[in-house]
Amino acid sequence: MIRLIIFGFLIYLVYRLFNGMISGPQAGKNPADHGTSTAGRMVKCENCGLYVPENEALTRHHRGQTVYYCSKACKNKKASN
Ligand SMILES: [Zn+2]
Repeated sequence: MIRLIIFGFLIYLVYRLFNGMISGPQAGKNPADHGTSTAGRMVKCENCGLYVPENEALTRHHRGQTVYYCSKACKNKKASN
C-alpha cells in the first residue's frame, strides 16, 4: 500500500514538473495576457489614444517626457503640428 502512495506522489511530482515547463515560457507569449505580464507594459498613443505594448510603440522625446505612438502615421501626424 505504501508503495502505491510513493508511486502516486512520484507521478504527481513529474506532472508538476511538466506542467511548470509547459505553462512557464508560454505564459508570456499568450496575447491574452495583456497587462498581467511584466514584460508587456501598455502605453497610450499620444495621437489617437490607442493602447499598444511599450516594446512595439514608437517613442519621441517631447519637453523632457517620453511620448508614445501606436504607428508611424500617428507619430508623423503629431510631429507635423
Ligand atoms: Zn495612434
